[in-house]
Amino acid sequence: MRVFKFGGASVKDASGVKNLSQIVGAVKEPLIVVVSAMGKTTNAMETIVEAYMERDMRLVQERYHQVRSYHLQVAEELFGRDNACLNDLLSQLEQKLEMEPSLNYDFEYDQIVPFGELFSTTIISAYLNSIKLRNEWLDIRRYIRTDDCFRSANVDWPLTEELLGAKLADSQEQLFVTQGFIGSTETNLTTTLGREGSDFTGAIIAHVLDAESLVIWKDVPGVLNADPRWYPRAVKIDELSYWEAIELTYYGAQVIHPKTLKPLQNKQIPLLVNSFLKPQLQGTIIQSSEQSGELQPIFVLKQNQVLISMSPKDFSFIVEESLSGIFQIFSKHRITLNMIQTSALNFSVCVDDSKRLKAAIDDLQEYFDVRYNEDIELVTIRHYTDEAINELIEGKEVVDSQVSRKTARFVLKASEWKF
Ligand code: ADP
Ligand code: ASP
Ligand code: MG
Repeated sequence: MRVFKFGGASVKDASGVKNLSQIVGAVKEPLIVVVSAMGKTTNAMETIVEAYMERDMRLVQERYHQVRSYHLQVAEELFGRDNACLNDLLSQLEQKLEMEPSLNYDFEYDQIVPFGELFSTTIISAYLNSIKLRNEWLDIRRYIRTDDCFRSANVDWPLTEELLGAKLADSQEQLFVTQGFIGSTETNLTTTLGREGSDFTGAIIAHVLDAESLVIWKDVPGVLNADPRWYPRAVKIDELSYWEAIELTYYGAQVIHPKTLKPLQNKQIPLLVNSFLKPQLQGTIIQSSEQSGELQPIFVLKQNQVLISMSPKDFSFIVEESLSGIFQIFSKHRITLNMIQTSALNFSVCVDDSKRLKAAIDDLQEYFDVRYNEDIELVTIRHYTDEAINELIEGKEVVDSQVSRKTARFVLKASEWKF
């Protein structure tokens, strides 16, 4: 069994779906195809949720009709007039949007946003069948079971393995199309795995089915040594160890969702990152390997950061007890610490700018004098050289830095990048 994952950009229009069908059609062995929502649909669904929670029904209708006509247009281009495959899902979503929302934002989010993935996979499965690529559409919510931590649900691995294993053992099909990003609780409430979570779904499926490999098809030639949107001279890395890849996703390289690698590493399943624009070319392979030779410098930029610095009000040292209290506050507010720096009287963290920060800062202020610095960027250079550091920080205002044997990190005041 192999698993392919296609992201939103790869299926943003009818020609993207046709391109997917060519890539999938070339595979002769059993295959599960995991697909995200088309194009920027998840963002659009999020705006529907916001309007729905504010009971702004005019806006809900306006946004819903944009999403509806976008999908109907793709379906019409693929099937002509015979494009009824979305009717059931559209009326389910309409019914949901007419209901009074509960008070739980995250719960409502998970009942609405997943329609993006349900629409895309329904269209794609129907299209593949229409061109005689026979396949079964799987509602992945029946198999990937999670807890009820809405918007960042945790997978019940044994149950998922049992349910998906049994389904596949029973089926005669060779090709399956299913959704990324979503799952459900034991009581059948839909959950999501966190934004960009479809890569993770690919890894969950590959893990529980002991797949031969997971291939994620992207709009880049593979994993590059930097995000090409930021650093135009970025070049492809042919091979990475799981370890290196996990380090990069941890520092914020957006090309792979951070949770993707562990389930693959644990079963030694290789991850291939290939280009859906040039599928014949070799992309990047991530597998268990001793990284041979020196790796070139790899750059990761994290924007929209805030640097929060705190010192105890009574001049006591920052020790284990105060650290544990600080971590508990960030954990309670679900804030990820992207960089940590500590000294006798000061503790600083770099975190993503988000609405949740204010409440966390209020909690911290009970015990600490807290200062924060907005408009911050965090740059990480893995396998740094002096030239690489100079190239990145020259002319920049460096607020803080942290250098270890393999990794150099700089907290910078945000400013325009010119290479
Ligand atoms: P998908 O929707 O398929 O999940 P993403 O947009 O999440 O695709 O990921 C692909 C994008 O990741 C690329 O278009 C690229 O701009 C960005 N990216 C960030 N860092 C890297 C990197 N190191 N190598 C390649 N792409 C990167
Ligand atoms: N559609 C979801 C998102 O945009 C999941 C994904 O694309 O991975 O976040
Ligand atoms: Mg993604």
